[in-house]
Amino acid sequence: MDRVRRRWSAWTLAVLFAPTPAIATPARDGLIEVEVRDREELARLTKMGLDLWTEHPHVGTIRGLTSAAERDALRSRGLRVRSLDIDVWADAAAEHARVVDAPAAADEFFADFRELAVIDAQLDTWATDDPSRVSIVGIGTSIEGRSIRGVRISSDATPRPGLLINAGQHAREWLSITSALWVVDALITGADEAPYAALLEQFEVVIVPVVNPDGYVYTWSDDRYWRKNRRDGHGVDTNRNFAEGWGGEGAGFDPLDENYLGSAAFSEPESQALRDWVMGHPDPRAYLDLHCFGQLVLYPWGHVGEPTDDDAMFAAQSQQMVEAMAALFDAEYTPLQGVDLYPAAGNSIDWAYGQIAIPSYAMELRPNFDDRDGFVVAPDLIEPAGEEVLAALVALAQSIGGNEPDPSGTSSGGDTSGGDVTGEFADGTRTTGELATSSATDGTSAAPYGTAEGDETRGSDAAAASGDSAGCGCRGGTDPGVMGLGALALGLRRRRRASPSP
Ligand SMILES: [Zn+2]
Repeated sequence: MDRVRRRWSAWTLAVLFAPTPAIATPARDGLIEVEVRDREELARLTKMGLDLWTEHPHVGTIRGLTSAAERDALRSRGLRVRSLDIDVWADAAAEHARVVDAPAAADEFFADFRELAVIDAQLDTWATDDPSRVSIVGIGTSIEGRSIRGVRISSDATPRPGLLINAGQHAREWLSITSALWVVDALITGADEAPYAALLEQFEVVIVPVVNPDGYVYTWSDDRYWRKNRRDGHGVDTNRNFAEGWGGEGAGFDPLDENYLGSAAFSEPESQALRDWVMGHPDPRAYLDLHCFGQLVLYPWGHVGEPTDDDAMFAAQSQQMVEAMAALFDAEYTPLQGVDLYPAAGNSIDWAYGQIAIPSYAMELRPNFDDRDGFVVAPDLIEPAGEEVLAALVALAQSIGGNEPDPSGTSSGGDTSGGDVTGEFADGTRTTGELATSSATDGTSAAPYGTAEGDETRGSDAAAASGDSAGCGCRGGTDPGVMGLGALALGLRRRRRASPSP
């Protein structure tokens, strides 16, 4: 007996003092499929706050990473559960061995996924190598004190209408981060070529690849399948922490829920940083939020069960985006209004559209839902996923711009009045040259947005303004130049009618 006890003690000590497993939280040890037969079962499932491997639960088959207790709870609620013979932790361990223990050559940045420090260094390299076109943007600081950084890319430092892109709200979605970085690289290396030269003459593209740096670091050190930020160890889903519809359906109220909404709208520094970044831009024209996975292009609303007044515009624009993506590698992306899926209240695209009425899309990138492991994917997906986002961005920019840059080359800054093509959308809405009076060209704009890292003054002002929805509406309502799309004026009226969900 003593011998047994001694052995047990030695084993306990070994466990207690063993190094932290690099990537595993063994409690969530089983990837499962749940067969959801109807909306009632769907509601029952989504209320459990599980780690479901879809941002948008739906009737049908849904995967999730679960503990034994959670599987028991599912079955006790009458839900049909099937365990999959896929060891996602083995996938994660193999990936860890590759990216940490034997990382790809440093000069081939896109050969594999990269740690945060390497990403940050690469942002600096891009800005240093091409300072006339590229500058570092600092939009805030995470809970654990990490800088949330990105880059601004344009033809030069003159303020222009902004296309704003972020990735990595959800830490484990590494392919969304590499895709954002891919777009940065492609715009820089292709800056003198069509169609990127025209795009960068007309717009500034601001890309923040890792908006949740604490979570991202944690996926490298502790739990490859971590999703949220690192608030108090349990984390908050920042994509349920935005003010539009905050607290509504599709958000979790238990801090341990994978979709936990936080203690208040914008309680998290990461969502605050995104808010201030978007609101602080002098002339935002579109917002893209990159996620993985499922190959979807989603547009508002995602939190209430009705379409926006701009539904026809969104449908036409998202169709252009998915066609541009499919033209590359025949990958099928599906454009969807968020409301066609289960609600996701408090998400960033609903907020961006609701506050400033700009085209806002959440892109769920590769792989498809039936892939073996949607988060741990082979590095050979980095290029196609990145190229697809790039193609979508170009299609979106062409749709929003609706006109070609001044062929004479005499336009400066955001003067987009040149050219003879006026965009026409499937719903008949024309851009009517409103871009020509862009606020970025009227001389009132201050220094180029985001030319100095850590410049949060603008963001602070925006934060103050963002508490006043009327003020936010005035951004688009009083300055006709801000509205690239006449149809989006309808969106502003729609926003005023819609009261947030409870
Ligand atoms: Zn996500």
